[in-house]
Formats: sequence, C-alpha cells, structure tokens
Amino acid sequence: MARRENGRPPALARPTLWREAALVGGVWTRGDTSLAVTDPASGQVLGHVPNLPARVVLHAVEAAHRALPAWRAQTAKARGALLRRWSELILANQEDLARIVSSEQGKPLAEAVSEVRSAAAYAEWFAEEARRAYGDVIPGHLADKRLQVIKTPVGVVGAITPWNFPSSMVTRKLAPALAAGCTVVLKPSELTPFSALALAALAEEAGAPTGVINVVTGDAAPIGDVLVEDPRVRKLTFTGSTAVGRQLAGRSLANLKRVSLELGGNAPFIVFEDADVEAAVEGAMIAKFRNAGQTCICANRFLVHEAVYDAFARRLAERAQGLVLGGGLEPDTTQGPLINAAAIDKARRHVRDALERGARLLTGGEAIGGTHFQPTVLTEAPPDALLCREETFGPVAGLIRFSGEREAMEMANDSAAGLAAYVYTRDLARSHRLAEALEYGMIGFNTGAMTTEAAPFGGIKESGQGREGSRYGLDDYLDVKTICIDVPAL
Ligand code: ADP
Repeated sequence: MARRENGRPPALARPTLWREAALVGGVWTRGDTSLAVTDPASGQVLGHVPNLPARVVLHAVEAAHRALPAWRAQTAKARGALLRRWSELILANQEDLARIVSSEQGKPLAEAVSEVRSAAAYAEWFAEEARRAYGDVIPGHLADKRLQVIKTPVGVVGAITPWNFPSSMVTRKLAPALAAGCTVVLKPSELTPFSALALAALAEEAGAPTGVINVVTGDAAPIGDVLVEDPRVRKLTFTGSTAVGRQLAGRSLANLKRVSLELGGNAPFIVFEDADVEAAVEGAMIAKFRNAGQTCICANRFLVHEAVYDAFARRLAERAQGLVLGGGLEPDTTQGPLINAAAIDKARRHVRDALERGARLLTGGEAIGGTHFQPTVLTEAPPDALLCREETFGPVAGLIRFSGEREAMEMANDSAAGLAAYVYTRDLARSHRLAEALEYGMIGFNTGAMTTEAAPFGGIKESGQGREGSRYGLDDYLDVKTICIDVPAL
C-alpha cells in the first residue's frame, strides 16, 4: 500500500475550520479510505478527506430527508436569521477562509478574499429573500371558485459544486435552498473540498439544525449516482463542465427530478471602434485573467474592430506581461497556478493549434514549472481555432479582427454556449441592439465584471438552465402549488 503523505494545511487563526471529515447527519465522519488534496502551486499534499462509499452518501440523503419537515416548518424569518448569522461568521473568518481557498485552488489571496466576501453576500442576500417567497391570489375562473398560488420548498436538494470558486459556489446554492426551506446534500469538487467543509462548520456554528446541511466527499461518480437515483432527492443543482452536467441532468430528468445547471461558456468580448480602448483593456484583464482564466464567464474570444485592433492588442499584451506568477499565498502574486496538469495541457494545445492555423503570438505561450501558464495574447486567431470554439479555461487571449456590427454579432452568436458576453462601445443604439441580439444569459457593457448576488447568474443554450442569485435564484428551489377552493354562494 502507498504510504500516506502527511498533509500540510495552511496556517489558520482558527485551525478548527480545517476539517478532514465529511458532515453526515450532524456527525463529522472520517470514513475508511481517504483522498489526498494538493496545493496546485506546489503539488504538496494539504490534507485528506474521506472517500465515502455510496452507503454513507445514502445516510446523508436520509439525514436531509429526516431534517426536512422541521426545517420547512420554520418561519422564513427564522431561516433567514440562520443565513444572516452564517453570513456574519463567514465575514468574521474571511482571512482563514480565503487562505483555505488559495491553498487548495491556487488563486491569489486578494482574489480569494473577494470570493469569500461574495460567499457571505449570497448568504446575506438569501437571508433577506427568504421572506419574499410570495404567492398569488388569482381572480376565480368561476363564480364559486377561489384561486391561490403558494410556493413550497422543492425538498431535499443534491448540490454539486466545482473547484474554480470553491467557496462562493457553495453559498450560491445552499443559501437559496435553505431560504426556501429545502435541506441539502452537497458534493464539493474532490480537488477543493476544504472550503465547503469550513463553510459547513460555520453553518453549524450559526445554528443549522442537524441534517439540514450535509457535505459528502470522495470520488465523484458513486456520489453522483446516489444524488441522481435516490427518489428522496427532489432536485439536482450542478455547476461544472457541460459534458458532466449533460449526463447528470439527463439521468436526473429520467427520474423526474428538477434540475438547475450552470455549465461552460465561450464568452465573446467585443470591442467596437468607438470604445474607450484603455477601459476595454482594463475590463479584458479582469474578464480574461482573473482566476488565471479559470472562470465560466471568462472572455474566451476577443472580437476587435479593425480600427482599434492593433492598439488594443498592444496594450493587452503589455498589461498581461505585468502579471506576476506565483503561489496564491505569496504576497506579490497576481496570477496563480492552473488547477492541474490537464488544465496546462489544454492551454498548451489551444495555443499550438492557433499558431498552426496562422495566429501570431504577441506574448506568453508557455507553461512554467509544470503548474503555471504564462499570460498569453495571440492575434489573428482564426474563428475556427480551438481557442475560439472551446472554452480554454486558462490565461490565453485570442484576438479576431472584424469590420462591422452585424459581422461581430453573428460571430459572437456562432457558439453552442450562451453564458456571458462583453461589449465595449459608446454607441447607445448599438448597445440596445446588441443587448437584444446577443444570445447570452448575461451581458456586460463597458465592464469586465458583472457578477453580484443581486443579479441573476446563468446561461442559455448549452450553458445551462435556471438562475442563481437575485430574486430569481429563490424560485429554483420552490415549487408552485395551485389552490382551488370551492366557495358556494349563500
Ligand atoms: P471540471 O472539468 O471543471 O473539473 P467537472 O464537471 O468535472 O468540471 O466537475 C464539476 C463537479 O462535478 C465536481 O464537483 C466534480 O467532482 C463533479 N463530477 C464530475 N463527474 C461527476 C459524476 N460522474 N457524478 C457526479 N459528480 C461529478
């Protein structure tokens, strides 16, 4: 048997937030076997989490199912109060939580702090929304009938979260679920489980009743099998790759569960001839290089008008060269490692493919030390290059030249994905035309950052269904129930 390497967790003010155990029915469970979790910058083992068998995952579903009636029966105000305490505890422990995010995911500490604040903001938002699960009173369709609509919690929710935002993706799903009166079995990514476990420990501290939040860790497939097959799980909410989401959604729908999906994108970033080029470059730095390009709303294709193409390309390359590569916890780092070797390979493959098809390398293009990838800018990227067709999920920007609005719009829509798009222009009419014509769930005009708990986040086409955050986010966890009452006249 391979010797188990000792873990080296990050130094924390509250070391008890580092949990090497799953949370099943209020019990922190270690299990018989474990999975190692590594720091993507150094490859060192940070710690281990249980590799739970299906049997224990079933216990978690059972616990969530048992906790449901009492949790659902609490007032929305009481559920909101718990979420508010959770949000406050997340903020009070933000430094530790951010260190956990940076250690297991690799992003620079400043980005990790923003992510943790965003995690708290989702909990706070849904603390407020809990009390707004309004129904309707509808004028009766017959003289002796009265009609009402009430909203009821979906039930036990299976939630599967990815590694790129290991903290905010958790509260973005769990807070609306809890606000609605649902209970949850959460499966965080096996690459970044410690953020979710720390958040669960804080939810417990905030007073979450036993079984309302369960966190199961381990190999994805057996856990996924339970979540899509067990009839007590009434809904699956998934954020991750389109391939896995498609497969899990298909199986969940076959079992007639509700499904919310937040899948891959292929965001166009369009810069028109009337744009403020410097502002567009600033936005591009955020939309492309945040989290080393590993976000589903990352700009993936830069469509730049020929009149500003050279100026935009030159400035973007200069700014990209200014990024400092390093480990997430090193103070000067502005771009962390990619999550694993497969991510490096994909970035490398996309660069090579673009160059073979005639693109020009302005800066970057190489992997460094096996864990980092240089911020890369390529010009004259052909629209059929891999980096324009597929999500690169790395710090690689490919620039395409265009000469007219219709051409840009058609190229932008020429994708199966429909998550986010970015447009830089100062033309008001053009902004309105594109807001209507672009087939994307979220569009940023003259900004590279648009995610907030107050606005609906989600995509159309193959980027998913359902919305997270905002008042729409609560609906994803509520069923609509019609009440028809016979009221005979006296
Ligand atoms: P990525 O390619 O970005 O890692 P994945 O879709 O593989 O995205 O991962 C997103 C989440 O889906 C993670 O929590 C991962 O463990 C989970 N996952 C992957 N495969 C399965 C599966 N067969 N069943 C359930 N969850 C899965």
